[in-house]
Amino acid sequence: MTALAAILAGRIRAEGPMTLADYMQTCLLHPDHGYYATHDPFGQAGDFVTAPEIHQMFGELCGLALAQAWLDQGCPAPFTLAEIGPGRGTLMADALRAIRVVPGMAEAAQVTLIEVSPHLRQVQRDRLAQVLHLDRAEDLPDQPLFLIANEFFDALPIRQFRHNGQAWAETMVALDGGRLAFALSPPVPLARAGRAGDVHEICSAAPGIVAAIAGRIAAHGGAAILIDYGNWDGQGDTFQALRHHAPVDPLAEPGLADLTAHVDFAPLARSARSVGAQVSAMETQGDWLRALGAGQRAARLAAAGDAGADAALKRLTDPAEMGQLFKVLAIWPQGAPPVPGTKVLDEDADNA
Ligand code: SAH
Repeated sequence: MTALAAILAGRIRAEGPMTLADYMQTCLLHPDHGYYATHDPFGQAGDFVTAPEIHQMFGELCGLALAQAWLDQGCPAPFTLAEIGPGRGTLMADALRAIRVVPGMAEAAQVTLIEVSPHLRQVQRDRLAQVLHLDRAEDLPDQPLFLIANEFFDALPIRQFRHNGQAWAETMVALDGGRLAFALSPPVPLARAGRAGDVHEICSAAPGIVAAIAGRIAAHGGAAILIDYGNWDGQGDTFQALRHHAPVDPLAEPGLADLTAHVDFAPLARSARSVGAQVSAMETQGDWLRALGAGQRAARLAAAGDAGADAALKRLTDPAEMGQLFKVLAIWPQGAPPVPGTKVLDEDADNA
C-alpha cells in the first residue's frame, strides 16, 4: 500500500466514500505524496510524453500563433504572456524563442506561469529564469492576456455519474475489505436524460478557470489557446491512470500514477462566451498545426539537419497518433481576427 493509499483509506473510514474529484485532487496534488507534488512525470523516463516534449516546433508554432494575435490586436504593451499547467516549461521556452523574432513583443511580455506544484515551479524557474508564478487563473492581472494551456484541463478533477436505466448515481471511491474500490452513490437527481449504461463526466473547476481567462481577454484584449485530448459534449467513461507509458488501475497506486480524464470542450466554449469572449470551433491538433505551417517548418528543419523533425511532425499531426485525439479551442475578443488556424464557432453547431 502506498503512503497515500493509507491516508485515503483512513479518510474513507472517517468520512465515507469520496467522489472521483476528491480522489483525483488528493492523488495529484497532496502536498507530500501527490503525483505532481513529488514527480517530474514527463518524457521517456517518466509516465507520459506531451507535445512540447516531442519537438520544439510545437511550442514555436503556439508562440507564433499568439504573436500573430498580438500583432492583429495592435501590439498591446505591457501584456501578460501566460501558461497554465506549464510542466517542465518547455513549451514556454520554445514559444519565447519564436516570439523574440517579433519586434517589441518579448520586451512587452510579462511571463506568468500558473502552477500548483512546488516541485515543477522550481523546474520552471531553472528553465525560464524571469517568471512570475501564480496559484490560480483568477489571480491573473487585469491587462491584455495571451495564454496557452497544453494538457492542463485533463489533469483537473472530474465527477462521474452512471445511469442504470432508472436514475443516475455517482461513481465513488470506497473501501472493500480494506482496499480502495469503486462504488456507486445512492441515486442522484441530475437534470439530464440518460439510458442504462450512460456515463456522464463533469469537470466542475474548468468553466470557472476559463471564465477567469476569457473575462480578461474580453475586457482587455488577448487570446488563449487551449489544447488537450478530448471532444465536444460527453464521451463516456474516460477516467484513466498512466504509469511508465502504460494504462494502470487508477486505484492501485494512488500518488504514483497520473490520473486524467478526457476534456469536454463544449462547457469550456460556453463559459468563454458567457463572459463575452469569442470562441473558435474546435479543431483537431493535426489540422491546426498544419494550418500554422507545421509541414513547412518540419521540412525546413529536416533540410537543416534535424533528423527527428519528420517523425515529430507525424507524431504531432497524424490522425492515428496525436493529430485527431488532441483538440484545440481558441478564445479572443469579439471583433478581433480569429487566432491563426481557427475560425469562429458556428452558434448553431454549438447549440446542436
Ligand atoms: N503543459 C505541460 C504539462 C502538462 S501536465 C506540457 O504540455 O508538457 C499538467 C500540468 O498542470 C503540470 O504542470 C501540473 O503541475 C499542473 N497542474 C495540475 N493541476 C493544476 C491546477 N489545479 N492548477 C495549476 N496547475 C496545475
